[in-house]
Amino acid sequence: MPEFGKYTKELKKLIDRAEHILLICHINPDGDAIGAMLALRRWIISQGKEPRMISPNALQSFLLWMSDVDKVVDFHHNQEEASKFIRDADLIIMVDFNSTSRMGKAEDLVLASGARKVIIDHHPDPGNFADLIISDSGRSSTSELIYFLVNGMEGEEFSDSDFFTAVYVGIITDTGNFEHGYYTGDTMRTVGHLLDMGVDKERVYNHIFSNFSENRIRLKGFALHNRMVVNQELHTAYIWLTKEDLESFSHAKGDTEGFANVLLTIRGIVLSVLFVERSGFVKMSLRSKGSFNANQLSRQCFNGGGHRNAAGGEMKGSIEDVVRHFENTLPSYREDLEAAAAEIKQ
Ligand code: 5GP
Ligand code: MN
Repeated sequence: MPEFGKYTKELKKLIDRAEHILLICHINPDGDAIGAMLALRRWIISQGKEPRMISPNALQSFLLWMSDVDKVVDFHHNQEEASKFIRDADLIIMVDFNSTSRMGKAEDLVLASGARKVIIDHHPDPGNFADLIISDSGRSSTSELIYFLVNGMEGEEFSDSDFFTAVYVGIITDTGNFEHGYYTGDTMRTVGHLLDMGVDKERVYNHIFSNFSENRIRLKGFALHNRMVVNQELHTAYIWLTKEDLESFSHAKGDTEGFANVLLTIRGIVLSVLFVERSGFVKMSLRSKGSFNANQLSRQCFNGGGHRNAAGGEMKGSIEDVVRHFENTLPSYREDLEAAAAEIKQ
């Protein structure tokens, strides 16, 4: 999205006209989903409106320190209140997702609502389910995109410490503290400004990346030692974890986050997958390097989606069936895997 002017004007008009604004993020919200929602809320408040916020399901504990996060209503556990928010809304702004299924059980109500709808997102190929689609896959995070939108809408710079911190949370979440994902000079200039404005980077880092349970670290050790499969020929590595594995480490939501990224640090590997067994289905996280398109593989193979280098999906069946399906499909991607590996020849 090369120029923001048209979009910012349109968004501002919609916000000015709306009486009941609702912000909604994707299911299993990460730091970008929540950061983007909280940041946008701060700016909308400065415009004299007080938007409500819902998340399709509960937030993980490592985000609960953020300012005003207690105002996010979880649709899964508080369906009555969240449904009322959806019914009351005359403007719904959807952040950090590109397909309606990412709203989980809130999907049907949101789609049935007569409210004007806006998507603000950085995933490629957004679905056509809104009146205004502000999509820029050239941004590290939806939070970064919101920072730029707000700056475009403000005559002078919007200065608000909770806004700055929320944007920073989104950026460091989606880039793994600048270790992976997609980021640009613009991202770093934004980060520079956020730090100048006083964002406490150590505090934020500790909340997001140094906040794991002992069990989580032990589960990671187990997964890498006992459940890692490496296929050097196809430049692929994966981890599979059964429900029993998770239970034996008293698994909590979010404990397996980041496991797939570790596998990409193996020399020659350009695709990594984490398979986690749930009740009757398997959830997977894919990560890739360079030109290998994990988003496409996830769409074709696992009914999922995401970005080129970080995608996810899910599939019905036992973990054995799903892993077998993956192993059987993988050779058809040989050419792309080899091409990506050749690019990074180590
Ligand atoms: P993660 O592996 O961290 O859960 O997700 C990585 C990326 O893949 C996220 O940016 C998210 O947008 C996308 N993603 C994860 N799970 C799904 C899914 O089930 N469906 C779709 N369409 N995208 C997903
Ligand atoms: Mn994001």
